Amino acid sequence: MVDNLEELGEFGIIDLFRKSGFPPPEDAWAGIGDDCAVLEGPPGERILVTTDMLLEGVHFLRGGTGPYLLGWKSLAVNLSDLAAMGGRPWAAFLALGLPRDLPVSYLEDFRKGLADCAARYGIPLLGGDTTAARKDAALCLTLLGRVPAGREVYRSGADPGDRILLGRPTGESAAGLALVLDPSIDLPDPDREALLLAHNKPEPQLDLGALLSLGGLATAMIDISDGLLRDLGHICEESQAGARVELEKVPVTPLLARFAAAAKKDPLDPALAGGEDYALLFCVPPQREEEALEAARRDLGIRLHPIGTVTDDPGILLGRNGEWRKPDRTGYTHFRT
Ligand SMILES: [Mg+2]
Repeated sequence: MVDNLEELGEFGIIDLFRKSGFPPPEDAWAGIGDDCAVLEGPPGERILVTTDMLLEGVHFLRGGTGPYLLGWKSLAVNLSDLAAMGGRPWAAFLALGLPRDLPVSYLEDFRKGLADCAARYGIPLLGGDTTAARKDAALCLTLLGRVPAGREVYRSGADPGDRILLGRPTGESAAGLALVLDPSIDLPDPDREALLLAHNKPEPQLDLGALLSLGGLATAMIDISDGLLRDLGHICEESQAGARVELEKVPVTPLLARFAAAAKKDPLDPALAGGEDYALLFCVPPQREEEALEAARRDLGIRLHPIGTVTDDPGILLGRNGEWRKPDRTGYTHFRT
């Protein structure tokens, strides 16, 4: 048994609580280990639950991106977990730990960002808790969602042969973060602002999640918070499968390409390993791929990006020109061409 939390790690801590000591769940379809917990709801429905905590000094700085965007983002990333199960937002609860020296204007701007995001995606705030904090602010959001019974999409349902699709291009959020960390990267102001927005004001793909869930199109789904390859890895682990990703098929937006040129980076680096994209990544049986592409185009006006295939062999391989390699430690192999 390890003695300190650093050694135990995030997944060790989760396992500690996952293991035992709690009554076995009744009427729960999934507990710890997916984007949301799934509970049996009223007849024909299931209830989704997700919770997320943000700490000052760990997840945000008071002098950082600003309270309005913090409010927006804290709700948006939680909504993205509902989207990843195919659910619709139902209710939000907010717990706040507030130090006495926090200006009221800060809290007011935070509220405005949260409220604008809530109005945009149609989720009411129904309660919570407030308490005084000693030094740093803490906020914890819990969301409930609903999904027709049997239509919820888990990480674990991918089958070998399924196609892997991306709900929108990735990488711009990581590029925005890179600009925060290194403001000397030379980009015109409109590009800079667009990338910072991609990082600070993510848009959960709730409509896409619901479309895939109601159409029974997705066999497995996740939202990209840790980076495309890592989150694909979570689908593979839970589905006991592997994946092949064709690098030529991974979309790179013109904006990301301009950033990569200015930063002297390979644009596939942020696209594959960046994180905080909150795009949906999902698997579709091959015979239904066209139907999924067409439904997204027709009903939502968006283009889906098929990037690879689920395989029997565990692990992820990246391919270019018929050559396949394992990703390196950072999550991405640089091919020399
Ligand atoms: Mg998630």
